[in-house]
Amino acid sequence: MKCPTCKTDLVPTVRHKIAVKTCSSCQGMWFERQELDELEDEAFDFGEDAKGTLVFSSTPTTAPCPECNAPLRRFRYRLYDLEMDFCENQHGYWLDADEDTRVLELMKKEEAETKRKVIAEDQWAMTLKRMRKGSFLSKVRDLFH
Ligand SMILES: [Zn+2]
Ligand SMILES: [Zn+2]
Repeated sequence: MKCPTCKTDLVPTVRHKIAVKTCSSCQGMWFERQELDELEDEAFDFGEDAKGTLVFSSTPTTAPCPECNAPLRRFRYRLYDLEMDFCENQHGYWLDADEDTRVLELMKKEEAETKRKVIAEDQWAMTLKRMRKGSFLSKVRDLFH
């Protein structure tokens, strides 16, 4: 397997507990399809459904897929300010040096955001309950007036 950008042989490396292939010259990384999934789960496992769409739109590049040589396509990861390449034949994703760390950071942010939403919903449910109780009590009070 060769690096799509500098054609150096990729070497197996463990990044964030996941076995990926990296380029020793540009430090880019090749993640197979499920490996990117595993990377996200390292930070925050929020289930397949909640994950939603990874690729929204993409532009062609001239860098070949290390697996099938088809030109990789560039896309914005989950609409964040992070660009990576993917193989249209579902082989995997090409990340530049340290972009895997950015993925973990973004996933942690996503987790915090989700937790915040859940807490907000809980508080809202409690507020609603209190309001209903309040109106009930005031009705009872009205009866004794
Ligand atoms: Zn390289
Ligand atoms: Zn491919």
